[in-house]
Amino acid sequence: MYTVSFDVGRFQRKRDGAKRRTRAPASEIVYVHTNASSCYTIAPLGAVTYELLNVNFSNQANVDAFARRWRVTDFLLPRWGEVRVSPCEVVSSGAGADLEWEQSKISTALSLWLSVDTSSTKTTPRESHQSGGGVDIDSSGATPAGRFKTYPMWQKVSARIGLWPFYRMSERTWQRQQAKLKRLDEEVDSLGMELDGSHEQLRWITSEVITLASTEQWQEADPEVAFADEFEERDRIMKELSAKRNEYRKERERGWDVTVAYDVPDIISICWLEIFTCVQYGILARRCSLCQRQFIVTGRANMRQCPECRKNPAKAWRKANESVLNKDGSSEG
Ligand SMILES: [Zn+2]
Repeated sequence: MYTVSFDVGRFQRKRDGAKRRTRAPASEIVYVHTNASSCYTIAPLGAVTYELLNVNFSNQANVDAFARRWRVTDFLLPRWGEVRVSPCEVVSSGAGADLEWEQSKISTALSLWLSVDTSSTKTTPRESHQSGGGVDIDSSGATPAGRFKTYPMWQKVSARIGLWPFYRMSERTWQRQQAKLKRLDEEVDSLGMELDGSHEQLRWITSEVITLASTEQWQEADPEVAFADEFEERDRIMKELSAKRNEYRKERERGWDVTVAYDVPDIISICWLEIFTCVQYGILARRCSLCQRQFIVTGRANMRQCPECRKNPAKAWRKANESVLNKDGSSEG
């Protein structure tokens, strides 16, 4: 069982109404709940889809590695009437073929709805909105929403939906905020003690001083008039205390947002949620310029390499060139 939530990054609207992502890359948080424990991963949006597409489901070691990475306890196979298959039985049970089928559906969805510049690495995505028609899947003009309209695939996933609070500011802001909260807390404490003292004093005044006084004017006197200064001081403290408490509450709430969190039963559902989110927010996918694998463009629109190749660009570059040589049979440079 997983809980997943998406942060689609920040957008600014262009003059033509299209959205363009700025600064913050799109990310997701995936909570894995097992019987024993719960842990989470913060990853670029689409990380599960990217990794699932790269699993070779006829290679048990490969399946095991993926299962370990996302703590997959079982795969849910819709074609089998929602049968669960343990990762270690994928190859022996023949479920590999079904999972490959799921892979191909996911890959198709990426190509139909999200992919940009599949043929050329030079086109700038989203710049040309002239193409229209929507016949050519490779056209980079159409938006994911428009393409979904043209090529609908009514994939559905089961999820329970809830709200999660999350902190959207930086770690540094968090530290500063905590320091301020601590200071406010101390101020509230000390004002509270001051108020206690003031109450105590007023109790003493009203109960002891006034009742002990035997003269007429004491008995008749309104303590709030007779001890106006003391009462005024108490009111001042009360006012200050409530202001501080308010300030504390506001400070504690500052920087927090909420996000919709989805509880889903299996890892493939996460892939679909990732894709749905990308379609909804116009986040595109591309084939890596080095290894040709599909990945979600989570950062700037000109991101060309997949997460794996970005980790080690030099190695990925060498590998890409090797495979080109192998295909050609030629050996230039
Ligand atoms: Zn790559």
